[in-house]
Amino acid sequence: MIADATTAGISRLVYVSAATAPQDSDALTRILAKSRDNNRRDGITGLLIYHDMTFIQLLEGAPDDIARCFARISADPRHGSVSRVLDGPVAARSFPEWQMGFADTREMSPQARDKVLSIGELRTNGSASVSDDPGLSVLVKSLLGTLRG
Ligand code: FAD
Repeated sequence: MIADATTAGISRLVYVSAATAPQDSDALTRILAKSRDNNRRDGITGLLIYHDMTFIQLLEGAPDDIARCFARISADPRHGSVSRVLDGPVAARSFPEWQMGFADTREMSPQARDKVLSIGELRTNGSASVSDDPGLSVLVKSLLGTLRG
């Protein structure tokens, strides 16, 4: 659990991306282990979802730490077409207890899973830059509300 002295400086970034190869549980475990080590060091918390070649990740922390982390993630060859969907200040962390939680679609409510599938479809079938698609940010916000619920 990260206890922020002040919540004024918390930034939240959500992106979607396309895996460059199918990710099995060993590959996801490696990503999560490295993420949790680095994020503990950097005071970053968040959530990672992977389904059918689509990653959805939420990062929250101090703006400079988020920017550095996102630059590393964007350059990672394990995925591409990394598109920022939400990016801005928030009043408080949504997942303060998770250095990087993993939300497994097999354990999600049907409503949450449907939203993940829709986000994946938008990513696959959408415009070149899905971050320009207003439907995507609506879906992502709705998914986050469902997961926090
Ligand atoms: P090292 O771990 O020493 O890595 C050095 C270089 O090797 C990096 O460029 C790295 O991208 C590359 N690399 C490492 N393993 C592999 C591999 N199996 N295949 C190909 N290249 C590899 N990092 C975070 O710190 N926080 C996060 O929340 C986070 N989330 C991620 C989510 C996704 C979907 C992915 C794909 C990666 C994520 N990462 C995250 C990892 C991130 O992309 C960097 O790999 C990591 O931050 C680099 O850590 P490091 O500086 O200690 O370098």
